[in-house]
Amino acid sequence: PYTGLRADDILQKRKAFLGPSLFYYYQKPINIVEGKMQYLFDEDGKRYLDAFAGIVTVSCGHCHPDVVNAVVEQNKLLQHTTTIYLHHAIAEFAEALASKMPGNLKVVYFVNSGTEANELATLMSRLYSGNLSMVALRNAYHGGSAGTIGLTALNTWKYPIPQGEIHHVVNPDPYRGVFGSDANAYAKELQDHIDYGTPGKVAGFIAETFQGVGGAVELAPGYLKLVYDIVRKAGGVCIADEVQSGFGRTGSHYWGFETQGVIPDIVTMAKGIGNGLPLGAVVTTPEIAQVMAQKIQFNTFGGNPVCSAGGLSVLKVLDKEKRQSHCAAVGSHLVERLRNLQQKYELIGDVRGRGLMLGVELVTDRKEKTPAKVETAVLFEKLKDLGVLVGKGGLHGNVFRIKPPMCFTKDDADFLVDALDYAISGI
Ligand code: PMP
Repeated sequence: PYTGLRADDILQKRKAFLGPSLFYYYQKPINIVEGKMQYLFDEDGKRYLDAFAGIVTVSCGHCHPDVVNAVVEQNKLLQHTTTIYLHHAIAEFAEALASKMPGNLKVVYFVNSGTEANELATLMSRLYSGNLSMVALRNAYHGGSAGTIGLTALNTWKYPIPQGEIHHVVNPDPYRGVFGSDANAYAKELQDHIDYGTPGKVAGFIAETFQGVGGAVELAPGYLKLVYDIVRKAGGVCIADEVQSGFGRTGSHYWGFETQGVIPDIVTMAKGIGNGLPLGAVVTTPEIAQVMAQKIQFNTFGGNPVCSAGGLSVLKVLDKEKRQSHCAAVGSHLVERLRNLQQKYELIGDVRGRGLMLGVELVTDRKEKTPAKVETAVLFEKLKDLGVLVGKGGLHGNVFRIKPPMCFTKDDADFLVDALDYAISGI
């Protein structure tokens, strides 16, 4: 049994010694002390089904033995040197990651987080294109650093500082967007924005194919193809933020952007790439990488032996355990069950997503799509009490984000839906 600090004491110490901007889930936040694949355990030994994976990060499963072993063995042998010396792990990991990429996306940069990856991608776009203007989508989340909060387009995360030369265009959100699923209309709006709101030339365009923090929004079908053409004609490069949607989670494809039939010029990743290790990456083409060679580009921890060994083991586990097809199978079962629940309860306005990258949006009025903020908050607590952890998102906080570790089973899916059914029936 756990004998460490209890929740109340931890909370006190957090208040005393950590920044006041930290937020936590649940009125009475839970103290998680152990994880095993898709399950988490709190200080009293209560088990939770984890349907949020540490914010879509634990891809293989909590403490997956292969990943733990790779990290422990590397830790025992050599923890750190940096890239001023040679090490096999970074080279092998880069090769394995590049082999997962389509087209000419063959040059890998390792960093420590998604924010850093998007910072680097922005820098590359500006250097390569010779332009300054970045275009991103409203409702996007791309990071919280001084540079990337400019790309992020949700006011909850935006500190009031200069946001840089960044333009946000109308979000191609099939459920709430002004043009519904009409990709052509959204693309025309982006073209208009470039023509009227920028010098006519742009540095780059960045998008999550499945918006995560924004509430599990899958972009209107066909949108990226149209928009990539427009952006390239305006001199810009196209960036796919795969921090949440990569590594087979969507089931149908290994990368989120593949669901839209495009190949980006730069892909950024983090979270699931490391199963919990602080690890991020940028993958681009040799041509774009060449502009970085005019100066030295260095990152002390980027590609360190421990994270590289761990990251390589993540790629191997996902292949060995056939997680992409597993996500497709479990995800379609889960979506079907959630759609049945939607027929039962008016409260469920939308069920969306693919594989194990799903969203359930709650509304008090299906026609007006009025966000059911209070109901979502109540159900969120109830689900926790029933032993199910989901994510909460969207600008109005009325979307459940269901993105579990990829080892999540059909039985787990049934348990989640039964718990949600029971919880809704009680309010
Ligand atoms: N991009 C996306 C799509 C994200 O969801 C996040 C994190 N929520 C980031 C970038 C930033 O990643 P990090 O927190 O590792 O800096």
